[in-house]
Amino acid sequence: MATFKAIRIEKADKGTTAALTQFDEAELMEGDVTVDVEWSTLNYKDGLALTGKAPVVRRFPMIPGIDFAGTVAQSSDPAWQAGDKVICTGWGMGETHLGAYAEKARVKGDWLVRLPGALSTREAMAIGTAGFTAMLAVMALEKHGLLPDSGPIVVTGAAGGVGSVATAVLSKLGYRVIASTGRMAEADYLKKLGAAEVIDRNELSAPAKPLAKERWAGGVDSVGSTTLANLLSMTKYGGAISACGLAAGMDLPSSVAPFILRAVCLLGIDSVMCPRAARKIAWDRLASDLDLTKLIEITSEIGLDQVIGRAPQILAGQVRGRVVVKIS
Ligand code: NDP
Repeated sequence: MATFKAIRIEKADKGTTAALTQFDEAELMEGDVTVDVEWSTLNYKDGLALTGKAPVVRRFPMIPGIDFAGTVAQSSDPAWQAGDKVICTGWGMGETHLGAYAEKARVKGDWLVRLPGALSTREAMAIGTAGFTAMLAVMALEKHGLLPDSGPIVVTGAAGGVGSVATAVLSKLGYRVIASTGRMAEADYLKKLGAAEVIDRNELSAPAKPLAKERWAGGVDSVGSTTLANLLSMTKYGGAISACGLAAGMDLPSSVAPFILRAVCLLGIDSVMCPRAARKIAWDRLASDLDLTKLIEITSEIGLDQVIGRAPQILAGQVRGRVVVKIS
């Protein structure tokens, strides 16, 4: 029986275990396209799955990994042929469907996006779910009508994956980016990505007032909790915040004041079940609106055998930018 290398999560008496093993091809789940995975990435959610810190995995055994880029090996979906270069993010991979930390993946053809011509499979995963989510957040601000001359855009968790890509994309589009970070030592890194100003995240972590001094027209928030509440209370009249993460918590200790007194909007961002049409637009935008030299600055690389060891670091906020995982 054919086997391939994969990380396998199993249920244990207490919590879960994760190990790099050989996986039997016959155990792959249903799907009409089999992909030779070339690159994956380490996202915050992968950290949760690998460490078992949150119940991300809902099927055992599980291959974790929420995103990959690779080449189609076999397809019974007429939309895809062997040799096509593809990207897959979300759709429950690594949660309910066997995921990306494996040399092979089998998924539904509908889940795949064609790799934009301007990107390599490695660059696509250097962007990965975090960068794709950052683009969705930027697109939501644009749809709200925010233009570069509307005012500054604040990006929280700026030195993390979503934050780094959001900072680079927004600055390339001409927005003035205020990057909020807990790692002021990364101020030079954030300025290289295009941040005009770097602020200490402590400024945004105390309990929020219903309304505070108006500081920005919009924001991309990957932190949640009191940080998001502060962002809302400091948003200018008619502005909007794209909320995509919970690095500091899932709660939102806010009030309705920003919504009913300043017409501020809270825009929800989900990458997992995001419809196909928006995915295609977002990936095409990433291929054109992200400076690939900045992507090099953002990215570090590890092998599949290093993923389990790196997982606690991303949860502790110690990973800068994006981590690509070389699969094959
Ligand atoms: P990273 O760990 O790379 O980035 C998160 C960043 O948040 C950290 O680097 C740190 O930035 C900041 N941070 C961490 N802990 C805290 C804290 N306790 N208080 C304040 N800031 C903190 O993760 P990703 O960029 O991959 O993901 C970011 C968030 O977005 C996660 O919550 C993730 O689950 C979510 N997400 C959601 C998606 C969706 O579809 N909605 C898709 C992808 C991610 P710094 O050091 O600069 O302060």
